[in-house]
Amino acid sequence: MGVNSDQLEEIMRGYSLRRSERDRLILERKKKLLEETEGYRYLENEALDLFHGIAVAGVSGEPCDIEAMRRRITEIREEQRKLLLEKGYDSDYLDPPYGCPKCRDTGFLEDGSRCSCFLEKKRDLLYDQSNIKKLISSQNFDTISFEYYKGRDLERFRMAVNKCREFCDSFSVKPMDLFLYGTPGNGKSFLSCCIADRILKEDIGVVYYSSQQFFDTLYRQVFKSENDAGEGESLLDVPLLIIDDLGAELTNSWSESGLFMCLNSRQREGLHTVISTNLSLDDLRERYGDRIFSRIMGNFELLCITGPDIRLEGKKKKLSCANNK
Ligand SMILES: [Zn+2]
Repeated sequence: MGVNSDQLEEIMRGYSLRRSERDRLILERKKKLLEETEGYRYLENEALDLFHGIAVAGVSGEPCDIEAMRRRITEIREEQRKLLLEKGYDSDYLDPPYGCPKCRDTGFLEDGSRCSCFLEKKRDLLYDQSNIKKLISSQNFDTISFEYYKGRDLERFRMAVNKCREFCDSFSVKPMDLFLYGTPGNGKSFLSCCIADRILKEDIGVVYYSSQQFFDTLYRQVFKSENDAGEGESLLDVPLLIIDDLGAELTNSWSESGLFMCLNSRQREGLHTVISTNLSLDDLRERYGDRIFSRIMGNFELLCITGPDIRLEGKKKKLSCANNK
């Protein structure tokens, strides 16, 4: 989920390339050994004759001791291995390790399931395309702090955190969209990051955009030709779309219809959307019209977060610490 077929192909091409490089290395090493080590070459020729003999006997049906020939081949391989060590080569000189020994650089385990290295590559890709790789390393559910909130603000923030956790816990089974609104700087974007982090950890695709990036990308993806649409996950398909600070973008004639089309399409497909904004509900209605307003009122869980501007409080705290030194 969240990785398209081109990206999947790219991952598989990477495996294929690694296997080819390993094969090429083995061939090169073997060629060098055969040229430089007479004893090794002699044994190799004997093994090749035996292989040929077994194949001929299989076709002609002539009686011969195939088992003895096979035993001799095993002996030859052992003699060759000893010879390699004597000459100072590593025992795996002709069998160099795979990048991932578990799947032998195929991406698949013996039972046909995906190897963990494949899942890691997929996760890396999901993180790269989420746009918030750096941010979520410091902003996640483990780093939430309640210290700036008091009274009613604290109550609201706790409720919002619980709802965000519930959103993540039930992501795959329950369609839910979140609308985080309230005064600026009190943790709405932080909570969006927490959600992104949790969902990405489940290997589900997430795209996180500021509202300006969102509208720019939507415009490219919806109105331009396929070639001009640009890189990245489609806003209409990505399992989780997060729009941060809705209302901060420059409005244009199609913002309202573009946003409505996007939300409509995503809800129809059962995809999740999280919106955060500093707009009040009245401002939301005024700015985007009744259609968007009633869509959000009717389909999103509304989470009102209030409190001091944490960014300012954090700065004040730093300043007072510095002054007390
Ligand atoms: Zn692997």
